[in-house]
Amino acid sequence: MSASLVPPARTAGSSTPGSGTPVLAVHGLKRHFDGSGGSVKAVDGVSLTIMPGEVVGLVGESGSGKSTVGRCVVRLDRPTGGSVEINGRDITALSARELRPLRKDFHLVFQDPSSSLNPRMTIRQIIAEPLRLHGLANRAEASRRVDELLAQVGLRPEIADRNPHELSGGQRQRVSIARALSVAPDLLVADEPTSALDVSVQASVLNLLADLQRDRGFGCLFITHDLAAVEYLADRIAVMYLGRIVEQAPAAELFASPKHPYTQALLSAAPVPDPAEQRGRSRIVLGGDLPSPLDPPPGCHFHTRCPLATERCRTEAPELRTLPGTADSPAPRQVACHLVADDGTVPDAAKQAA
Ligand code: SF4
Repeated sequence: MSASLVPPARTAGSSTPGSGTPVLAVHGLKRHFDGSGGSVKAVDGVSLTIMPGEVVGLVGESGSGKSTVGRCVVRLDRPTGGSVEINGRDITALSARELRPLRKDFHLVFQDPSSSLNPRMTIRQIIAEPLRLHGLANRAEASRRVDELLAQVGLRPEIADRNPHELSGGQRQRVSIARALSVAPDLLVADEPTSALDVSVQASVLNLLADLQRDRGFGCLFITHDLAAVEYLADRIAVMYLGRIVEQAPAAELFASPKHPYTQALLSAAPVPDPAEQRGRSRIVLGGDLPSPLDPPPGCHFHTRCPLATERCRTEAPELRTLPGTADSPAPRQVACHLVADDGTVPDAAKQAA
């Protein structure tokens, strides 16, 4: 998303995350792929929760494992370790048959709507299908719901009789969102929902998602590499690097004061709308590419690119520790770095990298 299309900060009217049972609780999630060359640890011990009405952003470079987390959450992929609970129910080991009635509680919006919508079905059939599969509406009710949903996602009713290829990319993603929300899920997993769209329509689809989330109050796992989008939409952000979460904090606090050197580098590279502020920032340039998850570096996975790495970092993996809140960062946050002190003090990676 370009900086000029960054929507205004989400404030008035934002839904407030609820309390009680999390809509999503992921504990120690692993997804290892075994092959002839060894085991690829795409996801290696990820834990996170999403409360009702809360939006959690999952960010990281391509190859960090964030999309695999999303696929495991909706059970398009089977975890090889750990557990996934939806509304307090462990779905990790359920069979496809046992899972079927629960599927109305969670839905995935894919990155590319062209590949996720059946080209032989009309838009009406596509949006009505989940209602029909879950026995939630007869034909007449489903048809009425489709008209309502099309209006809610900003599409004209005549689109209902067309096929996906007759729509633009932005319209197709709106159809995907309408389909996902047709059964009123408690959890929406949105995997890079705007990255396959033209820049000119990314902001409008993001705004639509934010409006629907605020109005309907569903929990959302928002997976993206777009920091402007996640700052706009998320209440809390988890940062992934090579299959692990390295930092997790309320969105405003993460952007105001990133603690992990990798988060500092990611944020320093993100464009900001104000040219004066942009000129005054020091960018942390990371050396090298993301290492292969087939052969991750020992110790802290980030040590091969970290400007602050010490000898200890090369041999000892840092734990994801919970730091107590402080005056300038009141909510507890989590960080996996040997150098971040318990009071949140952290060396400035930008100065070290300069
Ligand atoms: Fe860098 Fe060491 Fe912290 Fe890892 S543990 S992020 S290598 S300083």
